[in-house]
Amino acid sequence: MIQNKAPGKDVSIEDLKEKFPLAAKKNVDHYSSFNIAGVSFGKEFIPVMAGPNMVENEDLIVKTAINVKKSGAEFLRGGAFKPLSFPYRSEKYNETRENGIKWLGIAKKEANIGIITEVMEEKYLDLVCDVADIIQIGSRNMQNYPLISEAAKTQKPLMIKRHYGASLRDWLGAAEYALYEGNSKIILCERGVSVPHTHRDSSRFLLDLQVVPAAKELTHLPIAVDPSHATFWRPWVESMTLASIAAGADSIMLEVHPDPSNAAVDPLQPIDFKDFSKLMGKMQKIATVIDKKVIHV
Ligand code: PEP
Ligand code: MN
Repeated sequence: MIQNKAPGKDVSIEDLKEKFPLAAKKNVDHYSSFNIAGVSFGKEFIPVMAGPNMVENEDLIVKTAINVKKSGAEFLRGGAFKPLSFPYRSEKYNETRENGIKWLGIAKKEANIGIITEVMEEKYLDLVCDVADIIQIGSRNMQNYPLISEAAKTQKPLMIKRHYGASLRDWLGAAEYALYEGNSKIILCERGVSVPHTHRDSSRFLLDLQVVPAAKELTHLPIAVDPSHATFWRPWVESMTLASIAAGADSIMLEVHPDPSNAAVDPLQPIDFKDFSKLMGKMQKIATVIDKKVIHV
């Protein structure tokens, strides 16, 4: 074991060799690419994952699946199990849990779309794996190493969202836990960090786009960006999504809801079907500049 003489938030040569040898690039041109449900990650194609924050009901999730697929999204997102910040629930503000997973399964069939959904507890891994093509490890669980290890052991692809207070070093450490279990289909997702200034009282996070090139210097894993959670504010989603593509994002996660202002969770951030469709067209244009693609043509 090489002695790490200056452990800190920056990544050292020792870290790359000893702390996350599996996540670290082996040479400058080392970038992983893999297929998930027939969709290529890590190459010139940039898969879009879109859907509501929460799988609220069957009708909403099926309708959203059909609409986002029509606009070119490859994956439907939506949480049935959610890390809601407070324990109180109402009829509307309530995780749909087993029902939500069932509805995601129906949407998957009806729209012929891949599914990404969050798992919060190891005991629900089997259930979530029945429907998910990608298991989401939410930002709040980025350092829940037993959960990451067990999720990785299923050999389902994982997307690990960066905690809003985590350094790139910590994030790569989380990825290493997953890779260590022999699971090579690991995606990292930037979703905004906590900083003193976010330019609006209601915006809790700042999109750290600089982490995309920074991560790509060190790791071969595909880097996704979620501008919805990062901005927390609908009017900023379009520009930050286009900037994410330009910054080199390998995938984009977006919140899309049929009636955004009435979304059960985080109603300030989702966009509607029409805006999503327009945004997909703009993303495709920006992607063309860097020889990439968001929509298969
Ligand atoms: C989500 O994607 O639904 C979510 C809760 O995101 P995050 O973990 O980034 O807050
Ligand atoms: Mn959320």
